[in-house]
Amino acid sequence: MTIKKKFTTVIKINGVKIGDPKTFAIIAGPCAIESEKQMDAIAKPLAKMGVKLLRGGAFKPRTAPNTFQGLELEGLKIMKRVANKYKMGVVTEVTDSKFLDEICKYTDMVQVGARNMQNFQLLKELGKIKKPILLKRGLSATIEELLLAAEYIISNGNPNVILCERGIRTFEKETRNTLALATVPLVKELSHLPIIVDPSHGTGKKSLIEPMTKAAIACGADGVIIEVHANPKEALSDAQQQLTPDEFKKLLKNSNPIMKAIGKTMQ
Ligand code: PEP
Ligand code: MN
Repeated sequence: MTIKKKFTTVIKINGVKIGDPKTFAIIAGPCAIESEKQMDAIAKPLAKMGVKLLRGGAFKPRTAPNTFQGLELEGLKIMKRVANKYKMGVVTEVTDSKFLDEICKYTDMVQVGARNMQNFQLLKELGKIKKPILLKRGLSATIEELLLAAEYIISNGNPNVILCERGIRTFEKETRNTLALATVPLVKELSHLPIIVDPSHGTGKKSLIEPMTKAAIACGADGVIIEVHANPKEALSDAQQQLTPDEFKKLLKNSNPIMKAIGKTMQ
């Protein structure tokens, strides 16, 4: 890999500095935006816990075509209204560049999902906008391919890229993916870009999300993105991996000693 680290990129979104060595960013919210009531029910407790960045999918890349596909533009408007109410920033996934202009109106950070990490045409379009991009590692992408995908965005004019380790597909079947946490310190050696971890998609199992969050903090990640739903059992996607607000609160509390031990504060 040839990308050389000459500086550290720090990206500020809604007051949260991602990439700053002294802070750890928390992004939380449901897998998908389902309704205004559902978004309010989760944003309210998250805001109370100090979470400043809200996630939620409006364009859902689902494996099966007969499952919930997302509320699309209507969903974006819902999330923005709710986020404004609680003074939160918003991140959502783009699956097709034809929606990019609309998505940019309603979001503070644009997510490229694992399935689109090497959609080079989309990456080039994302290079033309100014919004920060959350680039998730592809299901079977190497670290080199992840960094080169980031280069597509950067070399087309947008330097604001945050990488995300969200697990890769291996022979292991007990977890949804294999969360490759060594990616974090390695990316820190190879690149100036911030990197966060997604322990929700990385494991697909509620019980593993807290231990993997602690591990992400300990290995030097710049933040985590975690799926949280007021009523996970009723969730229209990824019901098995979404935490309740109480479970998430406990995760934050239990992660704090590790945060302190490495001299970071949670944002
Ligand atoms: C998501 O974060 O909503 C998502 C679909 O994740 P991934 O692209 O990592 O599978
Ligand atoms: Mn999900």
